[in-house]
Amino acid sequence: MKNILQFEDVTYIYHTARGELVAAKDLTFSVGEGEFVAIIGPSGCGKTTLLSLAAGLLRPSSGRIESRGSFGYMLQKDELFAWRTIEKNLFLPLEVMHKCTAAQKARALGLAEKYGLGDFLKSYPAQLSGGMRQRAALIRTLAADPDILLLDEPFSALDYQTRLNVCEDVANIIRSEKKTALLITHDISEAISLADRVLVLTARPARVAHAHTLDLGGVPPLKRRENAAFSGWFETLWKELNA
Ligand code: ADP
Ligand code: MG
Repeated sequence: MKNILQFEDVTYIYHTARGELVAAKDLTFSVGEGEFVAIIGPSGCGKTTLLSLAAGLLRPSSGRIESRGSFGYMLQKDELFAWRTIEKNLFLPLEVMHKCTAAQKARALGLAEKYGLGDFLKSYPAQLSGGMRQRAALIRTLAADPDILLLDEPFSALDYQTRLNVCEDVANIIRSEKKTALLITHDISEAISLADRVLVLTARPARVAHAHTLDLGGVPPLKRRENAAFSGWFETLWKELNA
């Protein structure tokens, strides 16, 4: 498996009015093509900073980041524009990147149709459930056909029941579109139910404390939760996160 993203000894320092704040220190890890990697870590440890570095929105203070291909970003809140229809929201990244061609629009609409948004194209975000809005946000991210998806706690604003469903949904879409994904979460079960590999970060400044390959197979998240090995992984990661 070829690497699509690689961090080598990456340190990131925020310069604030009150001095320097080291958000990441000597971070080293890689993500292989087609892999689903979850990163868990305590609140405020530097997870969002890490994603911004991966996306090239921030430049490392020291160390190296190598990546191939384009990125799509999906955030905690769906960030759909309230005054645009779902269809117009889906076209937004294409407009921003000046790729709003007929072919690209057809691709976006094809994805919407395939993943059950076909009937909602003329609706406004407020007319959709939280779960459907999150699905629309993912389709929007996929519309530009990114090589790697960066997901920053995409389910954390949803209630538990919706969260399980959306998680199922998103896993299914990402696997069938064969995308590489880097998921940030503070939810251990979410990481275990989705990822091929889980990295555990230390408290700030973030470093990789542990890395695990899960081997739970390419089955949907809810099926994974039924796997006998699930609770063992939960215990391991819980201990590591609270060490
Ligand atoms: P996480 O996503 O793990 O909760 P963040 O990456 O958002 O953590 O933040 C890591 C640390 O960096 C926190 O202490 C946060 O307060 C600080 N931080 C984040 N963004 C900035 C910024 N723009 N300027 C200064 N400090 C920041
Ligand atoms: Mg964050």
